[in-house]
Parts: sequence; structure tokens; C-alpha cells
Amino acid sequence: MPIQSVNPYTNQLVRSFEEDSEEKVNQVLELAEDTFRFWQNTTFAHRRELMKKATKVLLKNQQKYAQLMTLEMGKLLKDGIEEVKKCAIGCEYYADNAEKFMQDELIQAEGTRNLISYQPIGAVLAIMPWNFPFWQVFRFAAPALMAGNVGVLKHASNVPQCAMAIESVFLEAGFPQGAFQSLLIGSEKIETLISHENIKAVTLTGSEGAGSTVAQLAGKYIKKTVLELGGSDPFIVLADADLEYTAQMAVKGRMINTGQSCICSKRFIVLESVAAPFIEGMKKYMLQLKAGDPQKADVDYGPMAREDLANELLEQVKESIKKGAKIITGGGRINRTGAFFTPTILTGVKPGMPAYEEELFGPVACIITVKDEAEAIHVANDCKYGLGASIWTKDLKKGEALARKIESGMVFINDIVKSDPRFPFGGVKRSGYGRELAGIGIREFTNIKTIRVK
Ligand code: NDP
Repeated sequence: MPIQSVNPYTNQLVRSFEEDSEEKVNQVLELAEDTFRFWQNTTFAHRRELMKKATKVLLKNQQKYAQLMTLEMGKLLKDGIEEVKKCAIGCEYYADNAEKFMQDELIQAEGTRNLISYQPIGAVLAIMPWNFPFWQVFRFAAPALMAGNVGVLKHASNVPQCAMAIESVFLEAGFPQGAFQSLLIGSEKIETLISHENIKAVTLTGSEGAGSTVAQLAGKYIKKTVLELGGSDPFIVLADADLEYTAQMAVKGRMINTGQSCICSKRFIVLESVAAPFIEGMKKYMLQLKAGDPQKADVDYGPMAREDLANELLEQVKESIKKGAKIITGGGRINRTGAFFTPTILTGVKPGMPAYEEELFGPVACIITVKDEAEAIHVANDCKYGLGASIWTKDLKKGEALARKIESGMVFINDIVKSDPRFPFGGVKRSGYGRELAGIGIREFTNIKTIRVK
């Protein structure tokens, strides 16, 4: 894929970029290693001060950064501003907590002193997606830099200006030049990076295919990976759920970022006894949504990020309909310029259909009716992915008990799944492995060293 900013609202090419040369790649990797040599020995107080400055830079430029997201991948401007604020919260969180997370742990055992120490490992390569072009990067970068590591970013090819802006945040905050660098390269160059001795580990957020390729390469060169891949999160509606609120939240959960989030609610697993009013409610809220220019404040959803992604989604919907799914509302592209797709509800979704088997990365809700709670859990787990899940019920104890039976990395009761710096984020099965955020996230890219003094 060429490295280009294409505005998905107009489908116009905004700017093209030359890929970085082999020479530039080598310079970046050399500088990363040189920087790591001293950066790892800086104090937490120093890193904290710079990370707090990064928070200020983010907040000061929130409008500008949000504009870039809108321009390159069609995010609503107001959502872009929220995303930048969330990055600032993430930076603040690791500025305040990294030292505590990285502290030695004393272990009671024979001998004078026994401990586990957490030490930085060097340059970590981050391969990142376009859907939350700032947040996905910051949730890696803030803990990495606070741990004493350095970062090299290969961002998605459709968000190069976001990539460059993120690099500038850290420079403006006063981080050394090699602490966080961005490379404009296509994914076919990735082996050059992963194989390089200066890259010590890789984190990737993106599709299952990209995750599998990168994990194979990392395996070849024995480098640790954290993978945050797709999801097809179940949204389980029990008989005692508050249906009006649940239907409203279902639409909210499905429409995050125009349906393009790994933790969007995607499969709506509804008990037969409440299916009809729930579907009616969901339809009502879907129909209230207004499409339009993502810059405008009164718009509820903008275009998808790229024309090819909208067409791919259309194929998945068409194929599901061919196999028996029914359209309750929406169902296809909007007849206007831009990568628009109507918010869609499909019912009668069954095994064998793309809507059941695959991730639908756009505004399409799949409804699966089940006869009881046992079947709801079975269907929720009958999926190759296991990222998030939500359960909607007034019986909180039951909700928690069912949460333990779901094969996923995160379960929310009576709320949609969200990332939060205080809680681990990640999945099981083909949603990937490893965790981002919280204490466990910062330790993923450390040398967990045993030290025993006899
Ligand atoms: P990709 O997974 O292709 O892209 C994500 C990142 O991975 C980009 O930086 C991309 O670079 C890179 N990448 C892609 N293929 C490779 C590879 N073989 N080796 C190394 N790096 C690679 O996402 P798409 O843009 O194609 O989106 C398609 C699907 O991905 C969506 O429909 C959705 O299912 C999933 N997705 C999931 C996300 C999540 O949050 N978990 C986020 C975005 C997408 P480049 O852009 O240069 O190809």
C-alpha cells in the first residue's frame, strides 16, 4: 500500500509520502540503540517530568491532532479531541505510576536477599493501526518510555501525518531524539526491522493476518511479541435487562468509531423472550443517527476509514444475506461521495455466514437469538476471537458468574467494553496475547530478572 493521506470523506488524495530509505531506517535504529544506552539509566523523576510535558503538548494541540485524524481516517472531530485527551490521561497515568510498577519485588526465600527486578530491554517496534491513530500508539509509548525503553513506530500507511505528529509530541516535550521515532515504510519492509539486532521486541495492533505474519517473523528471530488483534465481541442480553437502556447502549457499542474498533460490540446474543423489543429498540436508535461531514459537531457518524474497507464490509453483508440473514435496517453503502456505510442490523445470523464467523469491522450489528443463558454462553464462545464481551442483566451476581465462563480478556456487566489505563487490555484465542496498560502492560517489555543473594 502506498503511504498516502486520502480523505475518506471526499476520497481525495491529500498528500503522498516517499517511503524512508534503507539508510534512514539504519540511522533510526542506530539512534534508537544509542539513546537506549543512556535513557535506561535516567531517573524516574526525569522521565516523569518529560511525560508530564507530553501531556501538556497533547492538550495544547488537541484540535490540530484531531483534525489530522479526521482528515486521514474520517474520525469525527469531536471523537478525535476525546482521543487526544485520553492519550494525555494515559501519559499522566504512567508518569505517576511507572516507578511503582517497576519497583523490585522482594521474595521470602532462603538466603540474605531475593528479588525480582524489572529492567528495560531496548528498542521496541510498534506496528500500529489507523482506527485510533493516536491512542493505540500512546498506550504503547507512554509505558515503554517510562520503563526506560525506546520506541520505533511503523504506523499504518494511511495515517502518515498522524505518525509524524506523534513523533513531534515527544520531541516538543523534550524527550531525546531517539526515544521515539517514526518510520514511513510499508509492511513488506517489516522483516528488515524485526531481524535487526537493535529491535528487541515487537507490539502489533491490527488484523489477525498481520499479527500472524509478524509473530512468525518475530519467532524466526526470537523476539517477544504482544499482539492485540481483532475481536467479535458478544453483547449478551438476558431476560431481565433494562431493554430501553440496553438497546441504546447496543447502538453506542456497535457504532464506536463508525464501527471500526476491535472492542465494538459486534454479535448481539439475545434471549428469545426479549428479542423483539430489543431489536425494535436498537432499530429506533440506529435510525436516529445522522451521517455527514466528520468535522461537524451535529454529525453522529462519518465515513469509514477507507473505500476498500467499506467495500469489504459490503461483501461480508451480501454473503451473509445470501446465506439467509435478514436486514432490519441499513444494509449497504450510502449513495454519496466518501467511504460511507449505513448503520445496519442483521437478524437470523447463523454459523457458516461471514456475519457469524468473521469480524465485521464497520457499522453492522449481527443479532443471534438464543433460548436460554447456557446457549448464550455457548454462542458467545463459539468464536475464534476472545477480546471483550458485555452482559446486560439486573442480576449483578449472575452477571459476574457468567463473566467467568466467557472466553475473553475483558468482560463488562451493564456497560460497553472500554480501555482504561488502570486495567489490563488484551485478548485470548485469535484476538492475540499479552496485555497492554496497567502494571502488567509496562512489564511486558522488561527483562524480569531474578536476583538471589546467598
Ligand atoms: P492491518 O492489520 O493490515 O494493519 C494494521 C497495521 O499492521 C498497519 O500498520 C499495517 O501496515 C501493518 N501490517 C499489515 N500487514 C502486515 C504484515 N504482513 N506485516 C507487517 N505489518 C503489517 O489492518 P487493515 O488496515 O488492513 O484493516 C483490515 C482489518 O484489520 C480490519 O477489517 C480489522 O479486522 C483489522 N483491524 C483491527 C484493528 C484492531 O484494533 N485490533 C485495527 C485495525 C484493523 P500497512 O498499513 O502499511 O499495511
